[in-house]
Amino acid sequence: MSDDATREAATARYFGIDGETQAALIRALARLPTDVREFAVDECVYVSVGRSARGLCRPASMLASASWLIVLDERLAGHSLETATAHEVGHAWLDHDLGDTSTTHEEVEAEVRALVRKWGFRGLGAEPK
Ligand SMILES: [Zn+2]
Repeated sequence: MSDDATREAATARYFGIDGETQAALIRALARLPTDVREFAVDECVYVSVGRSARGLCRPASMLASASWLIVLDERLAGHSLETATAHEVGHAWLDHDLGDTSTTHEEVEAEVRALVRKWGFRGLGAEPK
């Protein structure tokens, strides 16, 4: 991954307090294809809870210019957190609608796992079930 990709990834709006989670978020976004990374920086905001934070209070206005809120689990480590981040960005990228009943949950998950594998991620959240 290039320095430019990392610099762009580092501009992602992260509203958690866990440094390791933020570092994994930046690594994950830097690994995404350029168009997806731009989407992930421009259209998504990120928060995390679970290790450093038991809970968070943030102004809802943090969502004002974003289309998607992505919640990350601080208890995941390294590569697992990178894959989980890519997985959730994948749902946003594919515009998955929780209210859409024309596809099953399993179909939606299979679609996003295949996409995340195509992006080069491996492990939980990327492998076929
Ligand atoms: Zn999923």
